[in-house]
Amino acid sequence: MATGKINVSVENIFPLIKKFLYSDHEIFLRELISNATDATLKLKHLTDIGETDVKYGDPVIEVKIDKEGKKLHVIDQGVGMTKEEVEKYINEVAFSGAEEFLEKYKDSAQDSGIIGHFGLGFYSAFMVANKVEILTKSYKDEPAAHWVCEGTTEFTLEDADKKEHGTEIILHINDDEKEFLEENRIQELLTKYNKFMPIPIKFGTREE
Ligand code: ADP
Ligand code: MG
Repeated sequence: MATGKINVSVENIFPLIKKFLYSDHEIFLRELISNATDATLKLKHLTDIGETDVKYGDPVIEVKIDKEGKKLHVIDQGVGMTKEEVEKYINEVAFSGAEEFLEKYKDSAQDSGIIGHFGLGFYSAFMVANKVEILTKSYKDEPAAHWVCEGTTEFTLEDADKKEHGTEIILHINDDEKEFLEENRIQELLTKYNKFMPIPIKFGTREE
């Protein structure tokens, strides 16, 4: 008799995540909005417990479509990420920063409303986009970061000059997913999710 360990490599699992994790491609937007919501609620929690002096204010999540550029943007004013955090949370598939946060602040953050769990949601963006960019600046006093990935296991990560804390996710929408560049389609999805979300969502078209 032989016993052994089943081996999973990222190169094999990545296409599966991209294409088949969810049968419904539209849920990428729900995933990005829940990440934006989590990031905003994390900042709220950190200001509530006095762990940062950053002002919380009245944050919104902004969704913009750029038909000409074939891009969809999801922008939040939440905690953002340092370069190291991008390495940790984004480049490590299936590592959930939401779960880690809830674990770290387990006494105080139980009712914070943070929803992330499996550390996979972000990658659903690649169901509709052939290229995804993250422009992010942490609430901590550290330089902003720009991450770019074209749906392979390769990525680039460099310093950027975003001034305000928060994150902008930029999806370069595939030609066969053009419905997600239509106002009506996005509005329909936002109406669906907005009902359940604690942070207001602003939607507009971007001319560039
Ligand atoms: P989950 O939400 O289940 O933790 P995701 O794959 O959706 O997993 O996201 C992975 C991690 O990347 C998050 O837990 C978070 O730490 C980080 N992240 C994703 N989107 C954002 C964002 N808009 N702002 C800050 N951090 C983010
Ligand atoms: Mg998530």
